[in-house]
Amino acid sequence: MRRTRNAKIVATLGPASSDLDTMRRMFLAGVDVFRLNFSHGSADDHRARIDTLRVLEQETARPIGILADLQGPKLRIGTFVGGPVTLAEGGAFRLDLDPAPGDTRRASLPHPEIFAALAPGAELLLNDGRLRLAVERCGADFAETRVLVGGKLSDRKGVNVPGVVLPLTSLTPKDRRDLDLALELGVDWVALSFVQRPEDLDEARALIKGRALIMCKLEKPAAVDRLEEIVERSDAVMVARGDLGVELPAERVPSIQKRIVRSCRRLGRPVIVATQMLESMVESPVPTRAEASDVATAIYDGVDAVMLSAESAAGKHPVEAVAMMNRIIEQVEADPAYRQMIDASHTPALPGEADIAEAVVAAMRDAVALLHARAIVCYTSSGHTSLRAARARPEAPVLSLTPRPETARRLALVWGIHSVQIKDVSNVVEMTASACETARRESFAQAGQTIVAIAGVPFGTSGTTNLMRIATV
Ligand code: PGA
Ligand code: MN
Repeated sequence: MRRTRNAKIVATLGPASSDLDTMRRMFLAGVDVFRLNFSHGSADDHRARIDTLRVLEQETARPIGILADLQGPKLRIGTFVGGPVTLAEGGAFRLDLDPAPGDTRRASLPHPEIFAALAPGAELLLNDGRLRLAVERCGADFAETRVLVGGKLSDRKGVNVPGVVLPLTSLTPKDRRDLDLALELGVDWVALSFVQRPEDLDEARALIKGRALIMCKLEKPAAVDRLEEIVERSDAVMVARGDLGVELPAERVPSIQKRIVRSCRRLGRPVIVATQMLESMVESPVPTRAEASDVATAIYDGVDAVMLSAESAAGKHPVEAVAMMNRIIEQVEADPAYRQMIDASHTPALPGEADIAEAVVAAMRDAVALLHARAIVCYTSSGHTSLRAARARPEAPVLSLTPRPETARRLALVWGIHSVQIKDVSNVVEMTASACETARRESFAQAGQTIVAIAGVPFGTSGTTNLMRIATV
């Protein structure tokens, strides 16, 4: 079983997609990584979904990536005495720490760290950015605001404070409990929400201790301001356009998306574009033309993966949404302009700045193009060699061979990589024989065709890509 495309598909599981049959159909339609959204669902829900995915993995004999997306410090107001209220533009509204239910004049905002960071002139966004309040006076436990944009407000709606770095880490007590569960269940990736500074990643890394890779969700303007440092400290990055588009005006999201993608491709970190990609498919069996075009744009930009959220978690057509994404990716990748755009946007390392791995990968990229090689075979223990190969966005697919199942699962997210679990090899002769055999068995190459293998010797030591071998199958 192999995919006939390079870019990958991440799909969120939810009430619309939690039985084995639906998950199987989603996998067959194209899902490479399944996302568990820890903002919703109980521990038992997550456990059951992971158990089901591992059954599916056995059944299909293909590695499946699992991404645990932690809720992060999502801020919310309290409740209201008599149901929803409507705030009128120009009116006064008070937020404070008093837990008493609110009314049309005030509401509880149970987050002292927000009040600590506010100053007159700051703006608060409520209910996904629909309502906008300007702070006029504030103290340690209250803020008097003026309603700039009014509207309806109900219990526990979300609060965004754009442009203010809050004294919060990106891991709440709930996140820490969810993280323990996710690691116990053996997830492959952990996504951190509302990351504000590079140090947030260090904190998570110290807790995770290599048991999963870390994906940083970029959804705060403060994080975008320190993009390079954050990308460097992440194992992958998600362009989380939902909250990003609340904290920043929608018109700024497209160019920031492209900037994040460029930075990730240059630094060799997998990058995922997420949220509202095929949003209308929550209800409708076909997407809007604009949505199809949005997915296509991300693929032309060379992203590693595109993601479905509500479409697959709570929509009416979870399988069709995956199939549609799969078809859009295949169409784009079949366009001759796609290769030109991918090549034009590739940034090779500069002389003097490259390491040995970079030189091996550059040679591999040239060899593949010159010889029309059918596959790149990477021997990898940690996944490092395959990631380096994928960064080059080569013309041939990357057949990634590893003895470690967790490496195969993690790499399911990455552009162009098809992982196969193999027994350890101990020398170059064995490596070449197994590369040719696996390329043939997985239908990447036939007898007489050329493959390019790269690896690091001594075998099994991570981060030592230093060898290229060209072989005829
Ligand atoms: P969420 O993250 O779905 O967890 O909010 C994605 C986004 O904000 O785009
Ligand atoms: Mn978000």
